[in-house]
Amino acid sequence: MGGKLWPWPCLLRYRKTFLEVVELGSLASNRSKSVPVRDDLQEESEPDTRVDDLLRRVASRFAWQSEPGISSGSLGHPFLCRAPCIRAVHGTCMKGPRCDFCHLEHVHPKRKLRRQERERLETMRELLALLIFQWHLEQQVIKLQLEQQLRLVLVVVQRHVRGLRQAQMPTELELCRVMENLWILRGFSLGQLFNSLQHWPQVSATFKRELKFLVDSARQSMARPATV
Ligand SMILES: [Zn+2]
Ligand SMILES: [Zn+2]
Repeated sequence: MGGKLWPWPCLLRYRKTFLEVVELGSLASNRSKSVPVRDDLQEESEPDTRVDDLLRRVASRFAWQSEPGISSGSLGHPFLCRAPCIRAVHGTCMKGPRCDFCHLEHVHPKRKLRRQERERLETMRELLALLIFQWHLEQQVIKLQLEQQLRLVLVVVQRHVRGLRQAQMPTELELCRVMENLWILRGFSLGQLFNSLQHWPQVSATFKRELKFLVDSARQSMARPATV
């Protein structure tokens, strides 16, 4: 099958370079450049490298930035926004800026999983499904040059996947299964990837929540989206 041309070693190589880029240590040292620290935090004697603390800081930074004129679902358009608002297309959305769906134009129709694809993903163990997810996530992030905006998301995904790997190393057979199914999420935008993951039953609820929070923060942080 042509799909098998996606080589697993490539995935591993990617993971390695990527892990170097977003390694926790470098996160801490780059923090001053990319994540402005509030005054009251600067008095801390030691930089705290724990992800959870970073999450708190980022959360405080992103709280309550909102753009007038677009719906809250449009934030992060076109990569990270929510599904397009059907009502807005017809000019009948009454929720205005409070609408959870995207009000900006979408050129590509929302890609949906076919039932068979969804079933395949949802019956894999968590690690395998997340390896597929992570592969597409990293591809998209690199392609769209969103490494800065999604750095915390990447760190959290990688940390979770690493934990699952350590708990139960994937067998050769399982890795083959991942490779054979890599194509399932092809063509998904970042927003679609994140939405899709929220529906996978085998993925830990805590992880889903954490990820949703981070993705929402990233969406908030993005500048007013350019209309296409
Ligand atoms: Zn959008
Ligand atoms: Zn709407």
